[in-house]
Amino acid sequence: MFIGHFGVGLAGKAATKKVSLGTLFMAAQWVDLVWPVLLLFGIERVQIDPGNTAFTPLNFVYYPFTHSLVGVLIWAVLFAAVYYFIKKNLKVSVFLGLLVISHWLLDLVVHRPDLPLTLSNEHMVGFGLWNNVLLTIIVEGLIFFAGVIIYTKVTRANDKIGKYGTFGLIVFLIIVYIMNITGPPPDNTMAIAIVGNAQWLIVAWAYWIDRHRS
Ligand SMILES: [Zn+2]
Repeated sequence: MFIGHFGVGLAGKAATKKVSLGTLFMAAQWVDLVWPVLLLFGIERVQIDPGNTAFTPLNFVYYPFTHSLVGVLIWAVLFAAVYYFIKKNLKVSVFLGLLVISHWLLDLVVHRPDLPLTLSNEHMVGFGLWNNVLLTIIVEGLIFFAGVIIYTKVTRANDKIGKYGTFGLIVFLIIVYIMNITGPPPDNTMAIAIVGNAQWLIVAWAYWIDRHRS
């Protein structure tokens, strides 16, 4: 799942207006931000296997540290703890931890049974919505647009950056999503890792526009 996670981050603004959209994005997408780093180091592995599911050519062969239930729970606690250490706000810290967990729950819906429950890569789960491209786009699209509506309702642009920067970010995410679906499979694992790490630009973009909205 891609834009669905960002949809959850956008919607999170309704719960915690003090937190920047950049932080909300980071939490909701956290394990997919760590994953490309672990791919680079060969700690987690993915294979390019067109037809693995109808929706994605990726075969997630080994990713228990970022995408097992236990792994995600550990990341959620760490994320919340670091935020608490910096900002001393328990309520927001817990909320951000829940956002980290939301990633796994959304992935659970779309992935085929390739999400392990444990760090030892056992007990695979996944409801497999990715076997149906149209349903995937509808469900993920609805989550994303619900997030866009909520974020643009609970915040207001202070200036042109707040207005057009936000519009640009939303359009950019949709374009990346469409390219993911319609584009050719990636050449190799390294390409996946590089594109994955480029997601930090989306986080930075979110921090930028959020400072121009109130
Ligand atoms: Zn994921």
